[in-house]
Amino acid sequence: MKAKSQELFEKAKKYIPGGVNSPVRAGKAVGIDPPFIARAQGCALWDADGNTYIDYVSSWGPMILGHAHPDVINALTEAIQRGTSYGAPTELEVEMAELIVSMVPSIDHVRMVNSGTEATMSAIRLARGVTGRNKIIKFDGCYHGHGDSLLVEAGSGVATFGIPGSPGVPGDLARQTISLPFNDLPAVEEAFQRFGDDIAALIIEPVPGNMGVVVPDINFLQGLRELTTSYQSLLIFDEVITGFRLSGGGAQEFYDIAPDLTCLGKIIGGGLPVGAFGGKREFMERLAPEGDVYQAGTLSGNPLAMTAGLATLHLLHKSDVYSTLEQRSQMLFSGLESLAEKAGIPVVVNRVGSMGSLFFSDAPVSDFAGAKKSDRDLFKKYYSRMLEQGVYLAPSPFEATFLSLAHTEEMIGKTLDFAGKAFRSLL
Ligand SMILES: *Cc1c(COP(=O)(O)O)cnc(C)c1O
Repeated sequence: MKAKSQELFEKAKKYIPGGVNSPVRAGKAVGIDPPFIARAQGCALWDADGNTYIDYVSSWGPMILGHAHPDVINALTEAIQRGTSYGAPTELEVEMAELIVSMVPSIDHVRMVNSGTEATMSAIRLARGVTGRNKIIKFDGCYHGHGDSLLVEAGSGVATFGIPGSPGVPGDLARQTISLPFNDLPAVEEAFQRFGDDIAALIIEPVPGNMGVVVPDINFLQGLRELTTSYQSLLIFDEVITGFRLSGGGAQEFYDIAPDLTCLGKIIGGGLPVGAFGGKREFMERLAPEGDVYQAGTLSGNPLAMTAGLATLHLLHKSDVYSTLEQRSQMLFSGLESLAEKAGIPVVVNRVGSMGSLFFSDAPVSDFAGAKKSDRDLFKKYYSRMLEQGVYLAPSPFEATFLSLAHTEEMIGKTLDFAGKAFRSLL
């Protein structure tokens, strides 16, 4: 059943570190060898052995329309005839920037990059350049890509593999990063009281998706806006996941809080490699060539990436998209919760819109410490049972489940049947 995937994984390990180009994919945390994917359509994946799966990874967030959406594929097929990269300005970039500015409330200027990591790295550099300060505040379990300043107590793979920091990050730089518990406003107040005159920025996933999903306390988010304003530090929302997922204007529109800078990625590329960062004009104007903070990219604003992103955003601009996602997501997660309860398995379900997580825990999970207390052995078993039945979940308890518009009620119903069986088998 898995012969071809296994053969590919063995070969991959010969030539690629760990056999993968991004660590969590390897499936180490759940003790499985990963299926190698050959094809995707809608909410379905096919592996190299011809097995099919209902996909809840959604390429870790980008595929909100489902895989191989005809509008995206048609736009790309047309665009590729005109060449793949020019390294010069294009109309597509202007269209993309105009659309982002019209959709995301706090952004008046935006620059495209090639990944979420580049977006956060560049936003941090800009914040340091603008303020002339060094320190940044982040939150335990939030993941902001693998830039040096941000690999401290990080989420995603860093959490999955229990890496507190990373060798290769100079201690002098890591010391400039203050990592605090999520949802803990007094801890942030204290940090500002001690270091406020040297804090360039506070960066946060407004709804964390990289320690599993954690729901923010609205007073916490508002408190961060007030504190950063009063200490003249920049508030950076890392909306690489939440941008265009929670609403057309991301978490900032959803919670009605305007950050100074916003990082985007994932969905704006429609499945091609993209990131972006933007914000208030007075800050963004400090970037080269207008200003003195340097940032650049050979493939930034790539015509294919812009094409896939624009096709995706245009479809998301339609009125009922987010209510459909909300309703399907509600069906999945409340279904999971009641099935687990019926089977007598204690779980915590955290969800905001179409991103959610199931923790095997009997105490609420409102921060990284809570997420780490969940039962990872149970998760591992649940994961295997679901995979055997053809449900492809992120292979770590510290990752989110992402729904797309291609997840029909029928597919969600099937998923719930499988989950019910999986829960009962855990006893
Ligand atoms: C995925 C992610 C990143 C990094 O994006 P890459 O494209 O993987 O570099 C940054 N921030 C958040 C919140 C993410 O989920």
